[in-house]
Amino acid sequence: MRVLGIETSCDETGVAIYDTAYPGGDGLLADALYSQIAMHAEYGGVVPELASRDHTRKLLPLVEQVLREAHLTRQDLDGIAYTAGPGLVGALMVGAATAHGMARALDIPVLGVHHMEGHLLAPMLENEPPEFPFVALLVSGGHTQLVAVEGVGRYQLLGESVDDAAGEAFDKAAKMLGLSYPGGPHVARLAEQGDPKRFRFPRPMTDRPGLDFSFSGLKTHTLTAIRELEASDVLDEQARADVARAFEEAVVDTLAIKCRRALDQTGLKRIVMAGGVSANTRLRERLAVECEKRKARAYYPRGRFCTDNGAMMAYVGAQRLAAGERDATGQMQATPRWPLDQLSTPDTALSA
Ligand code: ATP
Ligand code: FE
Ligand code: MG
Repeated sequence: MRVLGIETSCDETGVAIYDTAYPGGDGLLADALYSQIAMHAEYGGVVPELASRDHTRKLLPLVEQVLREAHLTRQDLDGIAYTAGPGLVGALMVGAATAHGMARALDIPVLGVHHMEGHLLAPMLENEPPEFPFVALLVSGGHTQLVAVEGVGRYQLLGESVDDAAGEAFDKAAKMLGLSYPGGPHVARLAEQGDPKRFRFPRPMTDRPGLDFSFSGLKTHTLTAIRELEASDVLDEQARADVARAFEEAVVDTLAIKCRRALDQTGLKRIVMAGGVSANTRLRERLAVECEKRKARAYYPRGRFCTDNGAMMAYVGAQRLAAGERDATGQMQATPRWPLDQLSTPDTALSA
C-alpha cells in the first residue's frame, strides 16, 4: 500500500510517501520538508496564524515534489495519512482539509494519525529498527514522556512532565541567554565552551520515586543565575557558556536518571529516544552509558527525523491504513490535545 503522509502540526510542513511493500526504511520512497523556523525566529517562537498560512502555501508544492521524486502520479497513491493532533489547531486543519480533499478526489482512504506516535515509531525507518517491546522517551518541544511500547497502538504512559517539556525548557533558556529560536541546538553549542564545574543546577523530581518530570523550576533557577551574574556585572561570554552547560547537564542528567528507572522498572532492554531533544549529543552519550551498564540498547531516528517530518507520519499512517483503519467520509480530524494512550490498536492480522 502506497501512502502519502502529511505533517502540519506546528512549524514544519512535511510530506512523504511510504510503501508497505518494502521493509522498514526501504518503504520510504520520497520525503520533503519545508521549515518555517526562519519566519518564526523573528518573533522568538511559533506564531500560529503565520504557521497555518505558510502550510497552505507550501503543502501542495511539496506533494508535487515527493510524487516527482518517487516517479509517481496521484493515481498511484492508495491512501493518505495526515497528522490529526496534537498540535496547533489551525495548522492541523490545513493538513486535514488537504488530505480529505485529495482523498475524496482520488477515491482512496484517508486517516488522521497521532503526531507523537509518529515521533515514537520514527526509529522504525532506520537500518536496525528496535523490536517490540521497548521503553520510549519522547522529548520534543511540547512533550516529555516515558512510554512502555508493546506494539503499534499499544502504549502505556509511564511518566510525563507535569509542567514544561524539555524542549520548551531549552527554548526558554536560550531566550534568557539571548540565543535564537529554536534554542536547543544553540544552547548545546554554547554549552560546549562551558565549565561543567562552575554551577550545579537542580535535577527536578529525581530525589523521589516515580517517572514524572518537571522543568519549570529549572527555568526559574536559570533566570535567577543569569540575573545574579548580571547584577555583579560578570555576565561575560564565558559565564553565559557556563550557565548553558549547567542547564544542559541538569536536563540531561534528569532525563537519564528517569530512563534508567524506566528500564529497571519494566525490565526491558531496549529504549527508543525520539523528538527534537533526542538530537542532543550529550543526552545520547549519557544514555549510552546507562544502557551499557544494563546491557540495554538505545535506538534513535536519524538526525533529520528527530524533529518534525512527513516520513514518520507516512510510516505510521501506512501501518494503520494497511490494517484497515480510515476516517469516516468527510470526517476530518483536528485534535489539539490528544493523549497518546487513548490510541486504538490496529488489527495487525489484516496488515500481515
Ligand atoms: P511536539 O512534537 O511535542 O509537538 P515539536 O514538534 O515542536 O513538539 P520537535 O520538532 O520534535 O518538537 O523538536 C523541537 C524541539 O527540540 C525544540 O524545543 C528544540 O529546541 C529541541 N532541540 C532540537 N535540537 C536540540 C538539541 N540538539 N539539544 C536540545 N534540544 C534540541
Ligand atoms: Fe513534533
Ligand atoms: Mg518543530
